[in-house]
Amino acid sequence: MRRLKLHHWILISMALGAAVGLPMNWLGERGDLDPELVRSIAAGGKELGGIFLRLLQMLVVPLIVSSLISGVTGMGDLRALGRLGGRTIVFYLSTSALAILTGVLLVNLLNPGAGADLGLLEAGAGAHAAPEVAASDHGLGAMLWEQLTSMIPKNPLQAAAEGDMLGIIFFSIVLGVFISFVEHGKEAEGEEGEGPYRESDAPRDDEDARHRKNAALVRRFWEGFFEVMMRMTLAVIQLAPIGVFGFMLYAAAGHGLSAFEALGMYALTVFIALCVHAFVTLPLILRVFGGHSPLAHAKAMTPALLTAFSTASSNGTLPLTMRCVEESGVPSRVGSFVLPLGATINMDGTALYEVVAVLFIAQVYGMDLDLSQQLVVATTALLASVGAAGIPHAGTVMMVVVLSAVGLPTTAVGLILAVDRILDMCRTTVNVWSDSAAAVVVARHAGELPAEGPADPE
Ligand code: ASP
Repeated sequence: MRRLKLHHWILISMALGAAVGLPMNWLGERGDLDPELVRSIAAGGKELGGIFLRLLQMLVVPLIVSSLISGVTGMGDLRALGRLGGRTIVFYLSTSALAILTGVLLVNLLNPGAGADLGLLEAGAGAHAAPEVAASDHGLGAMLWEQLTSMIPKNPLQAAAEGDMLGIIFFSIVLGVFISFVEHGKEAEGEEGEGPYRESDAPRDDEDARHRKNAALVRRFWEGFFEVMMRMTLAVIQLAPIGVFGFMLYAAAGHGLSAFEALGMYALTVFIALCVHAFVTLPLILRVFGGHSPLAHAKAMTPALLTAFSTASSNGTLPLTMRCVEESGVPSRVGSFVLPLGATINMDGTALYEVVAVLFIAQVYGMDLDLSQQLVVATTALLASVGAAGIPHAGTVMMVVVLSAVGLPTTAVGLILAVDRILDMCRTTVNVWSDSAAAVVVARHAGELPAEGPADPE
Protein backbone atom coordinates (compact mmCIF):
# COMPACT_ATOMS: atom_id res chain seq x y z
CA MET A 1 0.00 0.00 0.00
CA ARG A 2 1.28 3.48 -0.83
CA ARG A 3 2.18 5.44 2.27
CA LEU A 4 -0.05 8.42 2.86
CA LYS A 5 1.63 11.82 2.79
CA LEU A 6 1.46 14.17 5.74
CA HIS A 7 -1.12 16.46 4.15
CA HIS A 8 -3.39 13.47 3.53
CA TRP A 9 -3.19 12.61 7.21
CA ILE A 10 -3.97 16.19 8.11
CA LEU A 11 -7.00 16.19 5.80
CA ILE A 12 -8.26 12.92 7.23
CA SER A 13 -7.94 14.14 10.80
CA MET A 14 -9.66 17.41 9.93
CA ALA A 15 -12.59 15.53 8.42
CA LEU A 16 -12.66 13.24 11.44
CA GLY A 17 -12.72 16.18 13.86
CA ALA A 18 -15.65 17.75 11.98
CA ALA A 19 -17.46 14.42 11.61
CA VAL A 20 -17.32 13.81 15.35
CA GLY A 21 -17.84 17.42 16.49
CA LEU A 22 -20.72 18.65 14.30
CA PRO A 23 -23.28 15.96 15.23
CA MET A 24 -22.32 16.41 18.87
CA ASN A 25 -22.95 20.13 18.68
CA TRP A 26 -26.28 19.51 16.99
CA LEU A 27 -27.38 16.89 19.52
CA GLY A 28 -26.24 19.15 22.36
CA GLU A 29 -28.32 22.05 21.04
CA ARG A 30 -31.41 19.86 20.67
CA GLY A 31 -30.95 18.65 24.23
CA ASP A 32 -30.41 15.00 23.17
CA LEU A 33 -26.91 15.10 24.57
CA ASP A 34 -25.81 16.80 27.77
CA PRO A 35 -24.58 20.27 26.61
CA GLU A 36 -22.06 20.19 29.45
CA LEU A 37 -20.56 17.01 28.00
CA VAL A 38 -20.37 18.59 24.54
CA ARG A 39 -18.62 21.62 26.02
CA SER A 40 -16.11 19.41 27.83
CA ILE A 41 -15.37 17.43 24.67
CA ALA A 42 -14.86 20.69 22.75
CA ALA A 43 -12.58 21.93 25.54
CA GLY A 44 -10.65 18.65 25.42
CA GLY A 45 -10.15 19.12 21.67
CA LYS A 46 -8.87 22.63 22.27
CA GLU A 47 -6.40 21.36 24.89
CA LEU A 48 -5.13 18.65 22.53
CA GLY A 49 -4.70 21.13 19.67
CA GLY A 50 -3.20 23.58 22.15
CA ILE A 51 -0.30 21.23 22.87
CA PHE A 52 0.56 21.12 19.17
CA LEU A 53 0.24 24.88 18.84
CA ARG A 54 2.46 25.40 21.91
CA LEU A 55 5.10 23.14 20.40
CA LEU A 56 5.01 25.19 17.20
CA GLN A 57 5.07 28.47 19.13
CA MET A 58 8.05 27.19 21.09
CA LEU A 59 9.95 27.07 17.80
CA VAL A 60 8.93 30.46 16.46
CA VAL A 61 11.29 32.87 18.23
CA PRO A 62 14.50 30.80 17.91
CA LEU A 63 13.54 29.93 14.34
CA ILE A 64 12.95 33.54 13.31
CA VAL A 65 16.13 34.78 14.99
CA SER A 66 18.39 32.07 13.57
CA SER A 67 16.81 32.11 10.11
CA LEU A 68 17.00 35.88 9.80
CA ILE A 69 20.57 36.12 11.06
CA SER A 70 21.81 33.30 8.84
CA GLY A 71 19.70 34.60 5.93
CA VAL A 72 21.18 38.09 6.20
CA THR A 73 24.77 36.93 6.71
CA GLY A 74 24.41 34.48 3.81
CA MET A 75 23.35 37.21 1.45
CA GLY A 76 26.89 38.28 0.64
CA ASP A 77 26.01 41.62 -0.89
CA LEU A 78 24.07 43.63 1.67
CA ARG A 79 22.49 45.85 -0.96
CA ALA A 80 20.51 42.75 -1.95
CA LEU A 81 18.94 42.90 1.49
CA GLY A 82 17.68 46.43 0.86
CA ARG A 83 16.18 45.41 -2.48
CA LEU A 84 14.59 42.33 -0.93
CA GLY A 85 13.11 44.44 1.86
CA GLY A 86 11.73 47.03 -0.56
CA ARG A 87 10.08 44.43 -2.79
CA THR A 88 8.65 42.56 0.17
CA ILE A 89 7.01 45.67 1.63
CA VAL A 90 5.61 46.71 -1.77
CA PHE A 91 4.16 43.23 -2.22
CA TYR A 92 2.63 43.17 1.23
CA LEU A 93 1.03 46.57 0.96
CA SER A 94 -0.35 46.05 -2.52
CA THR A 95 -1.86 42.61 -1.91
CA SER A 96 -3.44 43.81 1.34
CA ALA A 97 -4.88 46.79 -0.55
CA LEU A 98 -6.27 44.44 -3.21
CA ALA A 99 -7.81 42.26 -0.51
CA ILE A 100 -9.44 45.30 1.08
CA LEU A 101 -10.78 46.43 -2.29
CA THR A 102 -12.32 42.99 -2.84
CA GLY A 103 -13.95 43.19 0.60
CA VAL A 104 -15.34 46.70 0.03
CA LEU A 105 -16.74 45.76 -3.38
CA LEU A 106 -18.43 42.61 -2.12
CA VAL A 107 -19.92 44.15 0.99
CA ASN A 108 -21.41 46.94 -1.11
CA LEU A 109 -22.66 44.45 -3.66
CA LEU A 110 -24.17 41.86 -1.31
CA ASN A 111 -25.28 44.31 1.37
CA PRO A 112 -25.26 41.65 4.11
CA GLY A 113 -26.30 44.03 6.90
CA ALA A 114 -29.44 45.31 5.20
CA GLY A 115 -31.71 42.42 6.16
CA ALA A 116 -29.97 41.58 9.44
CA ASP A 117 -32.04 41.63 12.59
CA LEU A 118 -30.23 43.68 15.25
CA GLY A 119 -32.29 42.12 18.06
CA LEU A 120 -31.32 38.59 16.99
CA LEU A 121 -27.68 39.63 16.68
CA GLU A 122 -27.67 41.24 20.12
CA ALA A 123 -29.25 38.12 21.62
CA GLY A 124 -26.48 36.04 20.03
CA ALA A 125 -23.84 38.47 21.20
CA GLY A 126 -24.96 38.00 24.79
CA ALA A 127 -23.40 34.54 24.78
CA HIS A 128 -19.99 35.90 23.86
CA ALA A 129 -17.85 38.22 25.89
CA ALA A 130 -16.52 41.11 23.85
CA PRO A 131 -12.72 41.11 23.72
CA GLU A 132 -11.04 43.47 26.11
CA VAL A 133 -9.14 46.17 24.34
CA ALA A 134 -7.75 49.49 25.22
CA ALA A 135 -7.07 50.63 21.70
CA SER A 136 -10.24 52.64 21.13
CA ASP A 137 -8.62 55.95 21.93
CA HIS A 138 -5.95 55.52 19.25
CA GLY A 139 -6.09 57.81 16.26
CA LEU A 140 -4.78 56.87 12.83
CA GLY A 141 -1.54 58.87 13.02
CA ALA A 142 -0.80 57.77 16.58
CA MET A 143 -1.29 54.17 15.57
CA LEU A 144 1.09 54.43 12.63
CA TRP A 145 3.71 56.15 14.76
CA GLU A 146 3.36 53.55 17.48
CA GLN A 147 3.84 50.77 14.92
CA LEU A 148 7.00 52.39 13.62
CA THR A 149 8.66 53.15 16.93
CA SER A 150 7.73 49.84 18.52
CA MET A 151 9.85 48.15 15.88
CA ILE A 152 12.93 49.15 17.83
CA PRO A 153 13.05 46.95 20.92
CA LYS A 154 14.32 48.61 24.09
CA ASN A 155 15.61 45.24 25.10
CA PRO A 156 15.94 42.48 22.46
CA LEU A 157 15.86 39.74 25.06
CA GLN A 158 12.64 41.10 26.49
CA ALA A 159 11.22 41.36 22.94
CA ALA A 160 12.07 37.69 22.46
CA ALA A 161 10.56 36.75 25.81
CA GLU A 162 7.36 38.66 25.04
CA GLY A 163 7.12 37.40 21.46
CA ASP A 164 7.31 40.96 20.11
CA MET A 165 7.83 39.91 16.50
CA LEU A 166 8.69 43.23 14.89
CA GLY A 167 11.25 43.94 17.60
CA ILE A 168 12.81 40.51 17.15
CA ILE A 169 12.89 40.89 13.37
CA PHE A 170 14.47 44.34 13.57
CA PHE A 171 17.19 43.27 16.00
CA SER A 172 18.00 40.05 14.11
CA ILE A 173 18.41 41.89 10.82
CA VAL A 174 20.65 44.52 12.40
CA LEU A 175 22.70 41.83 14.13
CA GLY A 176 23.05 39.91 10.85
CA VAL A 177 24.17 43.05 9.03
CA PHE A 178 26.84 43.79 11.63
CA ILE A 179 28.12 40.23 11.68
CA SER A 180 28.64 40.65 7.92
CA PHE A 181 30.32 44.02 8.41
CA VAL A 182 32.78 42.62 10.91
CA GLU A 183 33.43 39.48 8.91
CA HIS A 184 33.93 41.08 5.51
CA GLY A 185 34.68 44.68 6.23
CA LYS A 186 33.35 47.45 4.00
CA GLU A 187 34.09 45.56 0.75
CA ALA A 188 31.13 43.30 1.39
CA GLU A 189 28.77 46.18 0.69
CA GLY A 190 30.46 47.33 -2.47
CA GLU A 191 31.17 44.86 -5.22
CA GLU A 192 28.27 42.91 -6.51
CA GLY A 193 28.42 39.27 -7.52
CA GLU A 194 31.52 38.33 -5.54
CA GLY A 195 31.46 35.81 -2.75
CA PRO A 196 32.44 36.62 0.81
CA TYR A 197 35.80 34.86 0.63
CA ARG A 198 38.02 36.95 -1.62
CA GLU A 199 41.70 37.60 -1.73
CA SER A 200 41.00 41.25 -0.92
CA ASP A 201 39.50 40.14 2.39
CA ALA A 202 42.92 39.07 3.61
CA PRO A 203 43.51 40.52 7.09
CA ARG A 204 45.51 43.70 7.29
CA ASP A 205 46.79 43.00 10.74
CA ASP A 206 46.33 40.48 13.51
CA GLU A 207 43.59 42.40 15.28
CA ASP A 208 41.56 42.62 12.10
CA ALA A 209 42.06 38.94 11.37
CA ARG A 210 40.90 38.02 14.84
CA HIS A 211 37.70 40.07 14.46
CA ARG A 212 36.93 38.45 11.14
CA LYS A 213 37.55 34.99 12.47
CA ASN A 214 35.31 35.59 15.45
CA ALA A 215 32.54 37.04 13.31
CA ALA A 216 32.76 34.04 10.97
CA LEU A 217 32.40 31.83 14.02
CA VAL A 218 29.28 33.74 15.11
CA ARG A 219 27.84 33.38 11.61
CA ARG A 220 28.52 29.67 11.57
CA PHE A 221 26.97 29.32 15.02
CA TRP A 222 23.69 30.82 13.78
CA GLU A 223 23.77 28.72 10.60
CA GLY A 224 24.13 25.57 12.68
CA PHE A 225 21.46 26.75 15.09
CA PHE A 226 19.07 27.33 12.18
CA GLU A 227 19.72 23.84 10.78
CA VAL A 228 18.92 22.29 14.15
CA MET A 229 15.76 24.40 14.46
CA MET A 230 14.60 23.20 11.05
CA ARG A 231 15.09 19.59 12.18
CA MET A 232 13.05 20.28 15.30
CA THR A 233 10.36 21.83 13.11
CA LEU A 234 10.23 18.70 10.98
CA ALA A 235 9.76 16.58 14.08
CA VAL A 236 6.95 18.76 15.46
CA ILE A 237 5.21 18.87 12.06
CA GLN A 238 4.72 15.11 12.26
CA LEU A 239 2.28 15.76 15.10
CA ALA A 240 0.12 18.03 12.93
CA PRO A 241 -2.65 15.46 12.31
CA ILE A 242 -3.23 15.07 16.06
CA GLY A 243 -3.24 18.81 16.71
CA VAL A 244 -5.46 19.50 13.73
CA PHE A 245 -7.95 16.85 14.88
CA GLY A 246 -8.13 18.50 18.29
CA PHE A 247 -8.76 21.97 16.90
CA MET A 248 -11.37 20.76 14.42
CA LEU A 249 -13.19 18.93 17.21
CA TYR A 250 -13.13 22.13 19.24
CA ALA A 251 -14.42 24.27 16.37
CA ALA A 252 -17.12 21.82 15.29
CA ALA A 253 -18.40 20.71 18.72
CA GLY A 254 -17.91 24.06 20.43
CA HIS A 255 -19.14 26.42 17.74
CA GLY A 256 -21.26 24.31 15.39
CA LEU A 257 -23.20 25.90 12.59
CA SER A 258 -26.22 27.36 14.36
CA ALA A 259 -24.64 30.82 14.64
CA PHE A 260 -24.90 31.05 10.88
CA GLU A 261 -28.67 31.56 11.12
CA ALA A 262 -28.32 35.19 12.15
CA LEU A 263 -24.93 35.88 10.67
CA GLY A 264 -25.11 33.74 7.54
CA MET A 265 -25.10 36.57 5.00
CA TYR A 266 -22.21 38.33 6.74
CA ALA A 267 -20.14 35.15 7.00
CA LEU A 268 -20.91 34.33 3.36
CA THR A 269 -19.74 37.77 2.25
CA VAL A 270 -16.43 37.39 4.12
CA PHE A 271 -16.06 33.87 2.75
CA ILE A 272 -16.74 34.80 -0.89
CA ALA A 273 -14.39 37.78 -0.70
CA LEU A 274 -11.66 35.59 0.83
CA CYS A 275 -12.20 33.03 -1.94
CA VAL A 276 -11.87 35.70 -4.64
CA HIS A 277 -8.60 36.85 -3.12
CA ALA A 278 -7.24 33.33 -2.57
CA PHE A 279 -8.40 31.70 -5.79
CA VAL A 280 -8.25 34.57 -8.28
CA THR A 281 -6.08 37.51 -7.19
CA LEU A 282 -3.17 35.68 -5.53
CA PRO A 283 -2.92 32.88 -8.14
CA LEU A 284 -2.84 35.53 -10.88
CA ILE A 285 -0.05 37.35 -9.04
CA LEU A 286 1.81 34.07 -8.56
CA ARG A 287 1.53 33.26 -12.25
CA VAL A 288 2.21 36.72 -13.68
CA PHE A 289 4.79 38.13 -11.25
CA GLY A 290 6.17 34.88 -9.82
CA GLY A 291 6.15 32.76 -12.99
CA HIS A 292 5.02 29.93 -10.73
CA SER A 293 2.22 27.43 -11.20
CA PRO A 294 -0.37 28.32 -8.52
CA LEU A 295 -1.49 24.68 -8.41
CA ALA A 296 1.99 23.29 -7.89
CA HIS A 297 2.63 25.94 -5.25
CA ALA A 298 -0.64 25.16 -3.48
CA LYS A 299 0.29 21.49 -3.46
CA ALA A 300 3.62 22.21 -1.79
CA MET A 301 1.91 24.54 0.68
CA THR A 302 -0.92 22.17 1.66
CA PRO A 303 0.39 21.12 5.12
CA ALA A 304 0.95 24.77 6.08
CA LEU A 305 -2.43 25.90 4.73
CA LEU A 306 -4.31 23.12 6.55
CA THR A 307 -2.45 23.88 9.76
CA ALA A 308 -3.22 27.59 9.40
CA PHE A 309 -6.88 26.71 8.89
CA SER A 310 -7.19 24.55 11.97
CA THR A 311 -4.97 26.50 14.37
CA ALA A 312 -6.08 30.00 13.24
CA SER A 313 -2.55 31.19 13.96
CA SER A 314 -0.24 32.32 11.18
CA ASN A 315 2.48 32.84 13.73
CA GLY A 316 2.20 29.29 15.02
CA THR A 317 2.11 28.03 11.43
CA LEU A 318 5.32 29.89 10.54
CA PRO A 319 7.67 26.90 11.00
CA LEU A 320 5.54 24.90 8.56
CA THR A 321 5.22 27.81 6.15
CA MET A 322 9.00 28.11 5.99
CA ARG A 323 9.39 24.42 5.35
CA CYS A 324 6.68 24.23 2.65
CA VAL A 325 7.89 27.33 0.81
CA GLU A 326 11.28 25.66 0.50
CA GLU A 327 9.50 22.61 -0.95
CA SER A 328 8.06 24.94 -3.54
CA GLY A 329 11.56 25.91 -4.65
CA VAL A 330 12.13 29.19 -2.79
CA PRO A 331 15.65 29.29 -1.30
CA SER A 332 15.68 29.52 2.47
CA ARG A 333 17.63 32.80 2.51
CA VAL A 334 14.64 34.49 0.83
CA GLY A 335 11.99 32.65 2.84
CA SER A 336 13.91 33.41 6.04
CA PHE A 337 13.47 37.08 5.44
CA VAL A 338 10.07 37.33 3.74
CA LEU A 339 8.05 34.86 5.85
CA PRO A 340 8.66 36.01 9.45
CA LEU A 341 7.93 39.54 8.32
CA GLY A 342 4.81 38.33 6.50
CA ALA A 343 3.51 36.36 9.48
CA THR A 344 3.74 39.59 11.46
CA ILE A 345 2.61 42.34 9.13
CA ASN A 346 1.07 40.81 6.01
CA MET A 347 -2.49 39.78 6.73
CA ASP A 348 -4.59 40.05 3.60
CA GLY A 349 -7.34 37.87 5.03
CA THR A 350 -7.50 39.88 8.24
CA ALA A 351 -7.56 43.22 6.41
CA LEU A 352 -10.37 42.00 4.17
CA TYR A 353 -12.33 40.65 7.12
CA GLU A 354 -11.96 43.91 9.05
CA VAL A 355 -13.53 46.00 6.28
CA VAL A 356 -16.35 43.58 5.61
CA ALA A 357 -17.14 43.26 9.32
CA VAL A 358 -17.09 47.00 10.01
CA LEU A 359 -19.12 47.88 6.92
CA PHE A 360 -21.56 45.11 7.86
CA ILE A 361 -21.92 46.52 11.37
CA ALA A 362 -22.49 49.99 9.91
CA GLN A 363 -25.22 48.57 7.68
CA VAL A 364 -26.85 46.82 10.64
CA TYR A 365 -26.92 50.11 12.56
CA GLY A 366 -28.43 51.78 9.51
CA MET A 367 -25.40 54.02 9.10
CA ASP A 368 -24.78 54.99 5.52
CA LEU A 369 -21.01 55.33 5.13
CA ASP A 370 -20.07 57.52 2.19
CA LEU A 371 -17.01 56.96 0.03
CA SER A 372 -14.65 59.01 2.19
CA GLN A 373 -15.76 57.17 5.34
CA GLN A 374 -15.31 53.85 3.58
CA LEU A 375 -11.81 55.02 2.68
CA VAL A 376 -11.13 55.68 6.36
CA VAL A 377 -12.36 52.16 7.15
CA ALA A 378 -10.10 50.74 4.42
CA THR A 379 -7.00 52.61 5.63
CA THR A 380 -7.55 51.81 9.28
CA ALA A 381 -8.24 48.17 8.39
CA LEU A 382 -4.89 48.02 6.63
CA LEU A 383 -3.13 49.41 9.69
CA ALA A 384 -5.10 47.16 12.01
CA SER A 385 -4.10 44.12 9.96
CA VAL A 386 -0.44 45.17 10.10
CA GLY A 387 -0.75 45.60 13.84
CA ALA A 388 -2.64 42.36 14.49
CA ALA A 389 -0.56 39.55 15.93
CA GLY A 390 -0.60 36.21 14.11
CA ILE A 391 -2.63 34.51 16.81
CA PRO A 392 -6.29 33.42 17.03
CA HIS A 393 -8.80 36.30 17.15
CA ALA A 394 -6.13 39.02 16.99
CA GLY A 395 -7.97 40.61 14.06
CA THR A 396 -11.18 40.77 16.06
CA VAL A 397 -9.43 42.55 18.91
CA MET A 398 -7.92 45.07 16.49
CA MET A 399 -11.30 45.77 14.97
CA VAL A 400 -12.21 48.24 17.69
CA VAL A 401 -9.68 50.60 16.13
CA VAL A 402 -11.52 50.51 12.82
CA LEU A 403 -14.93 50.81 14.47
CA SER A 404 -13.95 53.85 16.47
CA ALA A 405 -12.37 55.50 13.41
CA VAL A 406 -15.87 55.92 11.94
CA GLY A 407 -17.67 56.48 15.22
CA LEU A 408 -19.28 53.07 15.60
CA PRO A 409 -19.65 51.64 19.13
CA THR A 410 -16.69 49.40 19.89
CA THR A 411 -18.94 46.97 21.75
CA ALA A 412 -20.47 46.11 18.35
CA VAL A 413 -17.63 43.61 17.96
CA GLY A 414 -19.77 41.35 20.14
CA LEU A 415 -22.38 41.06 17.38
CA ILE A 416 -20.15 39.02 15.11
CA LEU A 417 -18.25 36.90 17.63
CA ALA A 418 -20.47 33.86 17.22
CA VAL A 419 -19.00 33.03 13.80
CA ASP A 420 -15.57 34.41 14.47
CA ARG A 421 -13.70 31.16 14.98
CA ILE A 422 -14.58 29.73 11.59
CA LEU A 423 -13.91 33.04 9.82
CA ASP A 424 -10.62 33.32 11.71
CA MET A 425 -9.65 29.89 10.38
CA CYS A 426 -10.44 30.99 6.82
CA ARG A 427 -8.69 34.36 7.02
CA THR A 428 -5.58 32.88 8.63
CA THR A 429 -5.29 30.44 5.71
CA VAL A 430 -5.44 33.39 3.30
CA ASN A 431 -2.82 35.23 5.39
CA VAL A 432 -0.39 32.33 5.09
CA TRP A 433 -1.19 31.78 1.40
CA SER A 434 -0.37 35.43 0.70
CA ASP A 435 2.93 35.25 2.64
CA SER A 436 3.93 32.22 0.61
CA ALA A 437 3.04 33.97 -2.65
CA ALA A 438 5.21 36.90 -1.55
CA ALA A 439 8.15 34.55 -1.02
CA VAL A 440 7.80 33.24 -4.58
CA VAL A 441 7.40 36.64 -6.22
CA VAL A 442 10.23 38.26 -4.23
CA ALA A 443 12.54 35.29 -4.90
CA ARG A 444 11.75 35.45 -8.61
CA HIS A 445 12.54 39.16 -8.81
CA ALA A 446 15.74 38.68 -6.84
CA GLY A 447 16.83 36.15 -9.47
CA GLU A 448 16.66 33.36 -6.90
CA LEU A 449 14.21 31.14 -8.78
CA PRO A 450 14.83 29.18 -11.97
CA ALA A 451 13.45 30.92 -15.09
CA GLU A 452 10.85 28.19 -15.43
CA GLY A 453 8.77 27.67 -12.29
CA PRO A 454 7.36 24.24 -11.45
CA ALA A 455 4.92 22.78 -13.95
CA ASP A 456 1.23 22.39 -13.17
CA PRO A 457 0.61 19.04 -11.50
CA GLU A 458 -1.42 16.59 -13.62
N1 ASP B 1 -5.68 34.63 13.38
C1 ASP B 1 -5.12 35.48 12.37
C2 ASP B 1 -3.71 35.03 12.05
O1 ASP B 1 -3.09 34.39 12.86
C3 ASP B 1 -5.13 36.92 12.76
C4 ASP B 1 -6.56 37.37 12.87
O2 ASP B 1 -7.17 37.20 13.91
O3 ASP B 1 -7.11 37.86 11.87
O4 ASP B 1 -3.21 35.30 10.99
